[in-house]
Amino acid sequence: MTNQEDVAPERCDVAIIGGGPAGSTAATVLARKGYRVVLLEKARHPRFHIGESLLPMNLPVFERLGCLDKVRAMGVYKAGADFEADTPRGYNTYAFARVVGKSPPHAFQVWRQDFDQMLFEHARENGADGREGEEVLDVEQAGPRESLLQVRRDDGSAYRLQARYVLDASGRDAFLSRRKKLKRKNDEHQSAAIFGHFRGAVYREGEDAGNISIYSFAHGWMWMIPLPTGAMSVGAVCRPEYLKQRRGTPAEFLMQTLRANPALWARMERAELVGDEVRVTGNYSYDSDCMGGPGWLLIGDAFAFLDPVFSSGVYLAMSGAEKAADVVDEALREPGREARLIRQLERRQRRGMRRFAFFIYRFNGPVMQYLFRNSRGFLQLDQGVTSMLAGDVFDSFPVWWRLQVFRLVYAIQALRDRRRWSAERKLRLAQAASQFTGGTTPVDDA
Ligand code: FAD
Repeated sequence: MTNQEDVAPERCDVAIIGGGPAGSTAATVLARKGYRVVLLEKARHPRFHIGESLLPMNLPVFERLGCLDKVRAMGVYKAGADFEADTPRGYNTYAFARVVGKSPPHAFQVWRQDFDQMLFEHARENGADGREGEEVLDVEQAGPRESLLQVRRDDGSAYRLQARYVLDASGRDAFLSRRKKLKRKNDEHQSAAIFGHFRGAVYREGEDAGNISIYSFAHGWMWMIPLPTGAMSVGAVCRPEYLKQRRGTPAEFLMQTLRANPALWARMERAELVGDEVRVTGNYSYDSDCMGGPGWLLIGDAFAFLDPVFSSGVYLAMSGAEKAADVVDEALREPGREARLIRQLERRQRRGMRRFAFFIYRFNGPVMQYLFRNSRGFLQLDQGVTSMLAGDVFDSFPVWWRLQVFRLVYAIQALRDRRRWSAERKLRLAQAASQFTGGTTPVDDA
């Protein structure tokens, strides 16, 4: 038998680890620029993936990649995102037609297995060498910027691939970030998810029929995403301790969890689980110490992962991958510029993520819940928030200043709430004291 070491490694310009949205996007862009790109996916498409709700700002990316019509043909029209509220309808819609920036007025909801397969095949059509059932097991330095990859095929055979550049798009496996010990868990925002697909759930009416609906409950938040052919993706993102308490089957626990929000349950009580399959995933937010170095870059979830409440993952992955492909192109032509370009890319990606993160980390708190329900009208702040929900977090000034003012309003409201909280607390203590001394005021122990 031939020893792998005796055979010269195969060579390419760019090796991409992972054929999800980030990997396929970068592969398409780089192959079009004329590079020899090898896109390595350990699974075979179509393979299951969660993350079905896309954002309007994804549409210009699809258009530049040349696959917007393919997405349109497979998606449910998503006109907005709605959040439970004390309104006659029981919810507020953040309609993407009401944005202040330049984002398109809608997005799509997709089955991820079909969407990811389409993007992978699209990369192939654009000249990338897409390989399925091929897992990268190891990457080592093979020169100042070159890398040597060990690849194992799912038939058990193996080979080596030498690349002038490596893009890690391995998703939440975070292959290189782990290896290089760059991965940093976000201790302040830990969550886990439980979800399934249903038939027979009640849709919103009219223009809202394709919305993603978000609900809160004591342990986190829940989503309902209408999918093609009448299916509904339904799940809960919650603190890991809540999931650890679960008894019974995952399906029983999911149904018990969904009952915790009456408004959601009213749409779900007649629904049936498709295929009895309920999945649970650890969902901890994380990022990496840095995004790249000589000859390598991390893109998509392989760099960082945010709680998915605002459906930002696929957009951040694809728009970041597009920009990363430009960095690779320039770095291969002018290596001296690489470090600066990587720094700029990383700053941009972190800036966009911070704009989402501000809202995400406070989403379940009373102040954000209050503002989400009551910020209509004033300075079009709600429209600024809608633009953020559309994914317009990078370059739009009208969106940027509204988000800054929103943060200020948030701070003032939080301060007022704190004063109210402190006044209520004093009153409670006084009441408790008066009861202790024989007074008659009832004690409020809420
Ligand atoms: P992935 O899509 O994960 O792709 C990575 C690929 O790399 C996989 O196909 C994997 O098989 C492959 N791979 C891994 N290791 C190797 C290896 N060593 N060799 C070869 N291949 C490898 N985002 C949204 O936009 N909207 C949502 O509604 C949404 N909801 C979500 C709900 C939950 C509960 C979770 C957990 C996430 C959600 N997301 C959502 C986030 C979204 O799923 C991700 O952000 C998105 O898939 C990132 O794309 P990616 O290409 O970076 O990674």
